[in-house]
Amino acid sequence: MKYVSTRGQAPWVFSAEAIKNGLAPDAGLYMPEKLVVLSEKDKKALLKMNYIERAAYVMSMYLSDFTKEELNSCCAQAYGSGFDPEPARVVPLDRRTSILELFNGPTCAFKDMALQVMPRLLTRSLEKTGEKRRILILTATSGDTGKAALEGYRDVPGVYISVYYPTDGVSEMQKRQMEIQQGDNVNVSAIYGNFDDAQTAVKEIFADKTFAEKLNRDGWVLSSANSINWGRLLPQIVYYISAWCDLVNKGITTANDTFSVTVPTGNFGNILAAFMAKKMGIPINKLVCASNSNNVLTDFFNTGIYDKNRAFYKTSSPSMDILVSSNLERLLYLCRDSGFCADCMRQLSDRGAYSVGSGVLSELRQDFAAYFCAEKDCREKISETFSKHGYLVDPHTAVALFCADRYAEENPGEKMLVVSTASAYKFPGAVYDSIVGESTQTSEDFGAASYEKAELLSKLSGVPVPLPLRDLFRREIRFSNIIDPEDIRLDILKFTGSRK
Ligand SMILES: *Cc1c(COP(=O)(O)O)cnc(C)c1O
Repeated sequence: MKYVSTRGQAPWVFSAEAIKNGLAPDAGLYMPEKLVVLSEKDKKALLKMNYIERAAYVMSMYLSDFTKEELNSCCAQAYGSGFDPEPARVVPLDRRTSILELFNGPTCAFKDMALQVMPRLLTRSLEKTGEKRRILILTATSGDTGKAALEGYRDVPGVYISVYYPTDGVSEMQKRQMEIQQGDNVNVSAIYGNFDDAQTAVKEIFADKTFAEKLNRDGWVLSSANSINWGRLLPQIVYYISAWCDLVNKGITTANDTFSVTVPTGNFGNILAAFMAKKMGIPINKLVCASNSNNVLTDFFNTGIYDKNRAFYKTSSPSMDILVSSNLERLLYLCRDSGFCADCMRQLSDRGAYSVGSGVLSELRQDFAAYFCAEKDCREKISETFSKHGYLVDPHTAVALFCADRYAEENPGEKMLVVSTASAYKFPGAVYDSIVGESTQTSEDFGAASYEKAELLSKLSGVPVPLPLRDLFRREIRFSNIIDPEDIRLDILKFTGSRK
């Protein structure tokens, strides 16, 4: 299988090179030259497998430069002891709706599904491409990605990771998750300022050729852990195929009946994976794109115009507070070609907006529907889901449930799979306050009371706090330094210097 750039101006590569590079040299994203279609025989085999086997089976269809043994071992390590025995569990909620729980990994967020396996693919990609330098993963995080990346790259041979988070921009829970991080190849520092300050500083370092040259001389190469890497997208296709198997095996749907999927969407990686599963032959009808008040994608799927020139809102579902959804580029490529995609991306960078035209829009609307959920509706949905079903959902999942309802009003009777991307206990303040009807919670209010709220929520619901979060506040703090954004380079040199 060859990989090509969505912008069409880069040479094709094998998957190991695509995973090592992340971004293609023409700034496009790597895509397989064709999508595999599952045969009846594939589907029969998949129905009988467990999650680890399904993951290795599907990934081997795309990673033709990896051996079956390599993929079996990557998947067994990734989805083994760190995960619930069912890494992507399907839970029926009512006659129409089932939840796909993607938060039963080591950091209680769906990023684990990709970030547990991707580092293992990267290590093997380095061997396959003859890379002798050590990789330094550099990440600025506003919360979930940083912790999931630390946990994924921890103690992975040949790879080191340094994470920077804003002192004024993550919840108490998220901060503590990073402060206690284990592993001999990890570094974490807080940055004075907000997320923008941290992100800008890290972006500057990626663009700094002199600094890259210095690291290179010392045998290091910088890389990022963000969601545009093919090695993060592919593992996400797996859980949609696996969910279909489980829906069929549980008798919720039949092998040929269609169902729809609602995905709480930020960078568009998760929902794109669902679209690719559909293209591979999983009988999905509509992909419902769920947004919060940052509804740039809702407007896109309803008007064909993507326009990032708009107000930015901080919401209680922070992982969806996004104005530029990077993985949408892959959809533009899939629905036309690299010329069309490159043209849209040029307009986005020149004037912050583009229009796909009515032909492309009507094709997209065959596969996609889009809605958004306001903060008040999100709180009500958290509370309603608990009172009606005794089921706890986090704010991101509540956004999806609300949007699934809007879709059902227009399409009654259709079976719906709603994707749940985080444990309610990652946002205990917002969830608890929504259920007991306390004052408006904003993303900044998750403060010191976080853990007490988690315990209150557990008492109220009878649902235990997940193990990875339970002993957070009893563990030893390893990383507590706070630095100025200008000092990140020094921090990196100190980290890499101590590891020659
Ligand atoms: C990252 C994230 C999302 C958004 O997923 P994308 O693939 O970026 O669209 C949604 N919910 C949670 C909890 C996340 O961490």
